[in-house]
This record gives sequence, structure tokens and C-alpha cells, in this order.
Amino acid sequence: MKVNILLLPLILLGSPTLHAGNLTEDNVNKAMAVIEEVVAAYGGEKRLSTMNTITIRNETINIATGQSLKPEPPWDKNPSSGISAVDFKNKIFVTRSQGLAVGFEFNNGTIINGEQSFQLDYRAGTVAKIAKPDFDTSSGPFMRVTPALLIRTLKERSQNAYYLGETTIDGQMYDVIGFSMAVGPAISLYFERESRLLRRSERVLANFGLVEYHFNDYEDIDHIPFNRNFALYLNGDLNIERHNLSTNVNTDIEALTQVEENLTELAAIVPDELSRQEIAEGVYLIGGSGTYAMFVEMEDYIVAVGGAAGIAERIALLREILPAKPVEYGVITHHHFDHILGVTAYEEEGATVIASRAHRKIIEDKAKNAENLKLKLVRKKHVLKDSSRRLQIIDIGPTAHTEHLLVAYLPEEGIVFEADHFSMPQVGPVPPAVPSTKTFAKALKKHRIEATTFLSAHSPRVGARQDLEEALDKKLWTEDR
Ligand SMILES: [Zn+2]
Repeated sequence: MKVNILLLPLILLGSPTLHAGNLTEDNVNKAMAVIEEVVAAYGGEKRLSTMNTITIRNETINIATGQSLKPEPPWDKNPSSGISAVDFKNKIFVTRSQGLAVGFEFNNGTIINGEQSFQLDYRAGTVAKIAKPDFDTSSGPFMRVTPALLIRTLKERSQNAYYLGETTIDGQMYDVIGFSMAVGPAISLYFERESRLLRRSERVLANFGLVEYHFNDYEDIDHIPFNRNFALYLNGDLNIERHNLSTNVNTDIEALTQVEENLTELAAIVPDELSRQEIAEGVYLIGGSGTYAMFVEMEDYIVAVGGAAGIAERIALLREILPAKPVEYGVITHHHFDHILGVTAYEEEGATVIASRAHRKIIEDKAKNAENLKLKLVRKKHVLKDSSRRLQIIDIGPTAHTEHLLVAYLPEEGIVFEADHFSMPQVGPVPPAVPSTKTFAKALKKHRIEATTFLSAHSPRVGARQDLEEALDKKLWTEDR
């Protein structure tokens, strides 16, 4: 793909005799002229403004970059399907999706409707009230993948639109307009000069990079061009492919805003602040905001288990009670990008990183100084022991989530720490087991891991053997009605 950006002649000249006012005025006028043509191409202002509800059903493929069974490409493709609907007059947004992703099954819904806003889990059959619903933030992602809505927003907010320039992509000329929505970073819109249709948009997200949306196929619905699909690229790599199965304009969305009966109502989820729990003597679970690590006190040193976000802060909290003992080992459970963040923290501690032999490359790539990284690679099992206790690091893979998975097992205490396979919800009942939980339970049997206490990388809540059994026995709420 060949991309040529021709800068605005005005900017190229950059003459000091040119008044800034002229530059601004010319730019605004140019943007307005393009927006007028674009609005006409999308059915005209009147048609766009009479759109009140939009309902779109989709089928989607998510490409699991860095989150696949294997640590390298080709990445797994995770299918899902869903429906999204918006009602602008009443500021209602509803979205539901169900699908599969590396051993996880989900079937969730969100209803944003003022006081009647809810988060729903149809597998578990639970509903939680959303205390502070935010229509703009919740509906933003849907707006960004629906050009007709984006164009209407652009027209409404044309006061803060600006002309970025013209460019050629694959022999086609484009005019590029920049603008910002109510929430989030500025967005650049690429309008094909001939048809004035939006073919591409871009945003740059901090800590994430360049996000591109491509719209290659349109159909007319009520004389407004709607996209049949979109593709999302993250830093140039295909990340999401969505096919819109149906699009309905101005149909009643009332039914979608109703919460089904017989759902279990959950207590409000409170912010989960960084905390330290002593699980057994010298065994700690430290974490907050969805990521946790286990720390095991040995006679002369500490073993840290888990590589999710915030390891340095978790070590700092441990130091409050164990100031003198060094963190000698840091165990990385598996290769997924959110579980290798701890590598650099362990590196800084001077700890030896323990990881699956299969994950060597990804760990070394993550390290700041791979040459000096102390790395202990585990093929099947590695035991750390001294006169005080015995800690087993066992590869229980493959599971439905990853080919290799290190768990930490304290046989005397009956404690196991794992990531992404069996996590207690922060509040409410244990949900029915997903495939990764089922394969985890089988692997425990196979490796004769007789744990009674389950610590997880993503929950502050400790699970018992009985919770695991309950999850395995539980039927889906959707089947159980
Ligand atoms: Zn994972």
C-alpha cells in the first residue's frame, strides 16, 4: 500500500508575511467545504438528523495478538457475535456480545439508560447496577465503527474540525479531516474524493499506539450509506474483523433495555485498592485493581509468583512487613502480554525469573537487559525448598488457555496460585466453569495437585476447593431457565 501525504501548500510556504488568521480561516473553510460534501453523500443533513435509533447485529473475529495458545504467530482467531443499539434522544445505549477467547466463554450485556443502567452476565445469570452511567464513553466505540453516526457527529461538532491534508492511497485521492468526539483523543477521517465516503479513520491512543479502522463495503439503508463491515488494525496489524449482519434505523429498541427476570442481583462493585492478605503463615496475596501476585517467605529469601501489572508496588507493600529478605525468584505464569509485565520488575530486583522453557524468547524480548537476565527455565517441574517449606513450580499445560502454564503449589499448605483459569468474582456467586477452568481442574488431577485454597492473578477473593467444584457443576443461566 502506497501512501503519499501532500502537505497543505499553505503550511509548506510557511511565509512569515502570512497572517495566522488566514491560515486558520482557510483551513476551517476547507474543512467545512469537505464536510458539506460528505454530509450530502451520507443522505443529507435532514436524513442524518432524523436518525434516532440504530440497531446493528454483528459477527466478529478478534485476532488474539500476544494472547494466543502459542507465544508466536499465527495468532488464534476468536469468534464472537453481538448486537448494539443506540437511542440518541433518550441517551440509551445497549450492547450484548457472546463468544469465545482462549478458553474463556462470555455472554455479556451493558445497558446505559440513566438510572436504569446495568452490567449483565448471562452465563452466570447476574446483574449489577452501574452507579455512574456515561452515555458518551459507553457508546463511543459503537459510534467510531459506524461511519453514518460518525458523520453526523462530525457535522454537529464541525466547529472543532480541521483539514489535515490530502493523500493518495492505492491510486485514490482522499481528503483528511481531523476532529474530536465528546470523549477520547482526536480522530482523523479519510474521505474518498470521488464518493465522499469514509474509508478509513485513525486515532493514536497513549500506551497503545495507532488504531486504524477500515470501511470498505457500504449498503444504502433508508438512503443513508451504512458500512457492511469494518476492520481494525492495531499498529498496522489486523486486530478485529467485523461483519454487520443487519442494520435497522428508527426501530423500537425498548425490548433491548429490559432486564430479564430471575437474574441474581450483585452488590455494587467497590474499587479494589492495593492490599495485602496473609493466606497462611508467610504466604501473601498482594494486589489491587484486578492484578495480584503471591509472595512466599522462605528461610532466607522470598519467591514472588505472577507477572501481571504492578509487581514493583506489590513488592513495596511486602517490604513493609519483610524489609530484609531479598526477592530471589519471580515466577512468570505464561506468555500473554498482561502476564509478562513483571519481568522487568524482577530484573530490577536482581531476581531469577522462572518461566516455562517454551516462553524463553518472549521473556528475553521483554527484559531490559536480556544478556544479564537470570533465567531459570522449567520443562516440567521445579522445586524450591529449604528447612521451612517446599514450593513446587509445575507446568500443567496444555490447557484451553495456553500451551504451557506454570502454577505454584505449596503441598503442605494446600495452596495453589494460577493465572487465567479459575478466578473468583470480586462479588457474587461463582460463575459456571469456562473451558479453561475445566482443563485446569483436569490438569490438577493429572499432576496430583491437591489444593484446597486457590489464589488467582486476577482476583482479590480466595477460592476454596468447593468453589471450584461448584463452578464445574454449575449450569449456564441461559440453559437453566
Ligand atoms: Zn492469559
